[in-house]
Amino acid sequence: MFYNAGMTTSESTFPADLAIIGGGAAGVLVALNALRSATSAVQIVLFEPASTLAQGIAYATPWPEHLLNVPAGKMSGLPELPGDFVDYLLQADALPGVPRDVVADTFVARRHYADYLQQRLAEAQAHSAAALHVVHEPVMALQPGASLQQLRLADGTQWQARQVVLACGNSMRPLPAPGADALPPGRVVDAWDYDGVRMLAGDGDLAIIGSGLSMADSVVALATAGHRGRIHVLSRHALLPLPHAHAGSAEFDPQPLLDMPLRARMRALRGHVRDAAAQCLPWQSVMDRIRPLGQALWQSLDGADQRRFLRHVVRYWDVHRHRIAETVHAQVAALEQSGQLQRHRARLDALLVLDGTLQLHAHGPQGGMQPVNVGAVINATGVETRALAMRNPLLQQLLADGHARPGPHGLGLDSDAAGRVRDAQGQPQPGLQLVGSLRIGTLWESLAIPELRVQAQQAAAGALPTVQA
Ligand SMILES: Cc1cc2nc3c(=O)[nH]c(=O)nc-3n(C[C@H](O)[C@H](O)[C@H](O)COP(=O)(O)OP(=O)(O)OC[C@H]3O[C@@H](n4cnc5c(N)ncnc54)[C@H](O)[C@@H]3O)c2cc1C
Repeated sequence: MFYNAGMTTSESTFPADLAIIGGGAAGVLVALNALRSATSAVQIVLFEPASTLAQGIAYATPWPEHLLNVPAGKMSGLPELPGDFVDYLLQADALPGVPRDVVADTFVARRHYADYLQQRLAEAQAHSAAALHVVHEPVMALQPGASLQQLRLADGTQWQARQVVLACGNSMRPLPAPGADALPPGRVVDAWDYDGVRMLAGDGDLAIIGSGLSMADSVVALATAGHRGRIHVLSRHALLPLPHAHAGSAEFDPQPLLDMPLRARMRALRGHVRDAAAQCLPWQSVMDRIRPLGQALWQSLDGADQRRFLRHVVRYWDVHRHRIAETVHAQVAALEQSGQLQRHRARLDALLVLDGTLQLHAHGPQGGMQPVNVGAVINATGVETRALAMRNPLLQQLLADGHARPGPHGLGLDSDAAGRVRDAQGQPQPGLQLVGSLRIGTLWESLAIPELRVQAQQAAAGALPTVQA
């Protein structure tokens, strides 16, 4: 990876053609597309504080038990090469002796995905007319301008760029309990601190707050590391992620769903599930059929129905839509059956340290729960989607200065159909594009690789004609 370590402040004021903020999967996919399609010596700068590119949150885990939630055959980073990730896995001999069609159906370890994107980025760099510079610093502030955007990094250096793509990705939700921030170190570990979670494994009891995909990650990590203590899983709905099924998609026309209000739509979906069951197909086949329409399904609901969805349906939607590999599901289910994992439907009220033990106070539908004593708590509350609650200084600055506004329902940042960030007045800014989960309010489905690869391609295509002209 080319990184000009000798670059100084004065050199950095030379404008870049394209600045990409965030070097997780989304930012790297933007860089990859820009390098592949550049026809002149455009200068691309990628800002990422982490020392390794393409990992972000999802693909930073080195542990083999953390699997992709999507089969390898659907994880290509390039829309025009749908088998590209499978090609990579075969070339890298990641699953020795396994035939191609089986590899395509396999939920492989997530670490392979970062390796894949890094390799493709290096290959694109080697053959591109453009140059990529990687700067391992976070961008703290951005001032959009008519032709140049000004960027300020954490080390105080200033950069200029003609086009900027924001790919800042996911922020973790803080623990929803007063005082959680003030607990002694080691008592609260983020589920995305993959090594930290494993280090908690032992004989003591632990609690996981949140019961979604990050909970599943933590449970399999603890089990693999030999945890023997009890695992209390606490969440408001206590719904566990459901498993994928090898079934393909059900045969029905999903288009009429788009014209229905929410209630009728949910009724129709249940009808499709019954029809599928009559043909011995699992409910997952219905979800797979409507998966490509994820954004259209959200955008075709009116504002009131979107609010109803967020209030009443989203928890159930999430566990049906964001599924886990069957093996992971089976592992979590077995721990619950054995009694080692205990699920509590409850809202966390407080976390107290008493006599060296962490005590959880919570209340459920029947009122206050018996306090639970544990050695440590894992925060698996997942992705923060509310713009105003995100703890990213750059996003806070953009919102405070009116260069961005929260998306519909306060979710993510507002952007137009081309992904241009809307300022506080709602005006799309031609030099500032958004890629990834921050588009959730407008698109809803804007988190996983099938959406990110398309957005990344569009963002690079949108930025390059301007700077290559
Ligand atoms: C645990 C987990 C598992 C997942 N598994 C799958 C899966 O199997 N398949 C799938 O398709 N999707 C999966 N996803 C969805 C996942 O969000 C996307 O696939 C993808 O990883 C998102 O990448 P991103 O770059 O948008 O975000 P992130 O991974 O969050 O990366 C954002 C990057 O931006 C950087 N950044 C943030 N702010 C700044 C700043 N101010 N300046 C510079 N850099 C900054 C961060 O350091 C980070 O590296 C998973 C998500 C999670 C959380």
